[in-house]
Amino acid sequence: MYKCYNTKRFLRLLMLDAIIFGMLFAFFGIGRQLLFSSAESEKERIFLPVIMYHSIKENGHTQYQITPEMVENDFKYLKEHNYNSVTAQQLVDYVYNDGNLPKNPVLITLDDGFYNNLYYLRPMLEKYDMYAVVSVVGTFVENDAEADPHIPDYSYLTWSDISEMLSTGRFEIGNHTYNMHTTNNGRKGCKINFGENQDEYTDKVNKDISLLQLLLNEKDNISPIVFAYPFGYICNEIQPVLKENGFLITLNCYERPNYITRDPQCLYDLNRYNRSGLYTTEEFMAKLLKE
Ligand SMILES: [Zn+2]
Repeated sequence: MYKCYNTKRFLRLLMLDAIIFGMLFAFFGIGRQLLFSSAESEKERIFLPVIMYHSIKENGHTQYQITPEMVENDFKYLKEHNYNSVTAQQLVDYVYNDGNLPKNPVLITLDDGFYNNLYYLRPMLEKYDMYAVVSVVGTFVENDAEADPHIPDYSYLTWSDISEMLSTGRFEIGNHTYNMHTTNNGRKGCKINFGENQDEYTDKVNKDISLLQLLLNEKDNISPIVFAYPFGYICNEIQPVLKENGFLITLNCYERPNYITRDPQCLYDLNRYNRSGLYTTEEFMAKLLKE
């Protein structure tokens, strides 16, 4: 005699099996997902290359000068390779406000505040849908630019040029010190001197940097969140001063990659690659885009 299955019992067992299987699947599935997502978020580091330009001029083939054609070539290259220009504010929103960043972000910066940044770059930023942070020096704006404005080869940006830049929505302005962009005052940029009294140094550097913040606020109604160290000279003693003055991003000149996380500290001391006018776009991009 063979044993005959009771159909009802068989179906009941089948359902029970399905429920147990489903519960186990859900339990391990969710557990796995939780583990996986927390490990993922810890791992989530976004590669951010940062370019540092200075002056853009015809025949600009030096370490700190580049021609408008070369800049346009750079922008074309970035577009063709699916890089997306991001603003400093987007980086801050990503880190502090759980914001999003596009795929393959790149940050474009220019130091010293040359008038040619507005003259040549504005149409290019609009054409290629890109953004740039221009870090200005207070005395260059206040004295040099006002004395001899609007010559693309050498003039600096005036206060009204800065306003015009801001009105395009394509530029953000950074602080590059009011009057510490020099190595002739017995100091390397705004770096503390060996053996210098820390309180005196803090007072001096704070007065300088906050003066440019105040002027930019008065003249252009902005409070920059980006600070670029003159010549890339950095020291630990300046860090509290920069944070106190509201800077959320600081820019150095070490040619290394950056990785962005949700930790605010990752935006301090961003490394940048100097875009010298002595290289081709391909040579420069090979360095810049190497993770
Ligand atoms: Zn500079």
